[in-house]
Amino acid sequence: MDKSSPKVAVVGAGIIGMTVAKILQENLGKAQISVIADKFHDDTVSCVAAGIFRPGTSFRGPTKEITKKWIDDSWNYFQDILKTSEAPDAGIMAFDAYIFSKENYHVTRNHLIEDIVPIYRPVNDDELKLVSGDWKYGSYFSTLKVGSEKHLPWIEKKFKANGGKILHKKVDSFASLSDYDLIFNCAGLGAKYLCQDYDLVPIRGQVIKARAPWLKAAFYGDYDTYIVPGLDGVATLGGVRQYDSYNLEVCKYDTASIMERCCGLLPALKAAEVVTVRVGLRPHRVPTRVEAELVGGQKVVHCYGHGGYGVMCAPGTGMQAVQIGLDLLRGKTVSKL
Ligand SMILES: Cc1cc2nc3c(=O)[nH]c(=O)nc-3n(C[C@H](O)[C@H](O)[C@H](O)COP(=O)(O)OP(=O)(O)OC[C@H]3O[C@@H](n4cnc5c(N)ncnc54)[C@H](O)[C@@H]3O)c2cc1C
Repeated sequence: MDKSSPKVAVVGAGIIGMTVAKILQENLGKAQISVIADKFHDDTVSCVAAGIFRPGTSFRGPTKEITKKWIDDSWNYFQDILKTSEAPDAGIMAFDAYIFSKENYHVTRNHLIEDIVPIYRPVNDDELKLVSGDWKYGSYFSTLKVGSEKHLPWIEKKFKANGGKILHKKVDSFASLSDYDLIFNCAGLGAKYLCQDYDLVPIRGQVIKARAPWLKAAFYGDYDTYIVPGLDGVATLGGVRQYDSYNLEVCKYDTASIMERCCGLLPALKAAEVVTVRVGLRPHRVPTRVEAELVGGQKVVHCYGHGGYGVMCAPGTGMQAVQIGLDLLRGKTVSKL
């Protein structure tokens, strides 16, 4: 084996796998990197997501400090792309966001991003009337979104141009990848079966993608109601969070509930054309798993279990996973990490 040119497999082609592959390639010019997955692009959970940069306050890594570092590193990573002319091709857009509540002041605050986004402040009385409803509490913040439908092909194009390989296949075990020096496990919910990880649980989500080119800001209401502007004028309307549900079928009752709640917030959405209704299973795990493991003698770096926040946190967790992988390639043992 030529140690100057290690052979690395990244299992998974969602936002986590593709981001890890990109960061890895930037750090390991000479490596032979293959992304191996059975689902790509639109078929991944990543392409169901609204992709907004707003973590739930319960999002958690192994420590508070690591969680915050993941978020801050991710924000800075996306800001660097936003500053370039590539941002539209990369599917990244900045916008204003409002979160309202009739009942609970605390849901309008977010300690994980208040110090990093340029503005996070309470709304004034005029802003409380921006949307329909008798809102009592609200915050305004500036944020961004990452549309995976553009971001994944954008990374893939760069990755292939720099010599990366894409392989379409299902991986049944890490043992089947024994000719690789290092494996990154970015299989999302698929990690449940690859690692027999019973802490990884689906949280079913359903969203409506509707044409609303006039929508320029994101709005959140109570009970998981959100409206997020999108690329090419297609907004994401949500949502639901159904713990331990594996149902991939569109539920008409969920569609009706999402429509009623979102139109209650913004009545103009009643006239919006529905482009599609999508279902995705969020890979939920507490904490999100970014760590190395020796599996049957093979070096595996896990990076999965991002729940409802994998799009926004892919770079931060990906940077840590790649750092662990580089240390392993340089000869550190898993137990010394
Ligand atoms: C309705 C909804 C709204 C969301 N909104 C947001 C949001 O606004 N912001 C945000 O940050 N996040 C959001 N999320 C969460 C986000 O979508 C996920 O956290 C993220 O997509 C997880 O990415 P992933 O790459 O781990 O998984 P996936 O996108 O599911 O990719 C997993 C990859 O692994 C591959 N794979 C799995 N098992 C195997 C195997 N055995 N062999 C080969 N390949 C395998 C799959 O084929 C796929 O390529 C939302 C999710 C949903 C469902």
